[in-house]
Amino acid sequence: MTLNLVPSPAATTSDPSASGRVLFGGATCFLLTYSPKFPQMKTSTPNWLQRLGNRSLDLLFPPSCLSCERELEQSTEASPLCSDCYEQLTEPLGPVCPRCAARVPELTGSTWSCPRCEADKVRFDATLSLGSYAGLLRDLVLRMKQDRSERVGRMFARLIEERWGDELEAMEIDAVVPIPMDPWRRIVRRVNPPEVIARRIADTHGWRHLPRLLRRRRNMLPQHGLSRAGRFRNVQGGLSISRGYHLRSPHILLVDDVLTTGATCSEAARELKKHGAERVTVLVVGRTLDD
Ligand SMILES: [Zn+2]
Ligand SMILES: [Zn+2]
Repeated sequence: MTLNLVPSPAATTSDPSASGRVLFGGATCFLLTYSPKFPQMKTSTPNWLQRLGNRSLDLLFPPSCLSCERELEQSTEASPLCSDCYEQLTEPLGPVCPRCAARVPELTGSTWSCPRCEADKVRFDATLSLGSYAGLLRDLVLRMKQDRSERVGRMFARLIEERWGDELEAMEIDAVVPIPMDPWRRIVRRVNPPEVIARRIADTHGWRHLPRLLRRRRNMLPQHGLSRAGRFRNVQGGLSISRGYHLRSPHILLVDDVLTTGATCSEAARELKKHGAERVTVLVVGRTLDD
């Protein structure tokens, strides 16, 4: 099986990613790697001075829990959450459908999807979620949407890594792709939370992060308030592959913040598979309980 991702000549000129030719699985392909056109500014602050500065800041402004703001004993570099908030966000999920991560009464070895995602014919193959979209997890996801500092997104990426890191590593992912945000909303908010998480996960595992592979083709109505069938209709044709990218049977990790009906991720998976992706695994922070 060849798992390559090949940009056409147009992609290598229009995308800031540069290409390098390598031998991969016996075939020549191009790997997308980031090569900045401008040299990075060198920082000359010695490490000991940075550590001294951090300690001084901790004394002046004691580190507090990212969620409840309770004072922490240790630096937020080690963990940005107090033990209570950490436990709430990492509660065991219980049995879930492997394809859509919805809770199911019980799981048998032969079960690979639940009746709901079979009825919807969702196009992705598996879903990993950190937890149910409720309580503290929901509050923090809503906060992440407004968080320009990206702290909440980085924290979720870290928790996802703790929960699913070993499983992700075993999946042989070819590229990590976030669900894109509406371009106008992106200008207003400046940050696309799924992109923050996708970048951290890709960096941790040494995978390619392709934030511009998918693009919004048109303004979709907000999914909120639409019926289940209406959500699937609303996203039809709403996402496309950016010009210049061609996929050759890769395994894509598709990242979003919340999975409700799965309509958006299913449409993204349909588009990715239409252009050569073989398998699409969805990774989300929260899975809604009922829809
Ligand atoms: Zn807390
Ligand atoms: Zn399911």
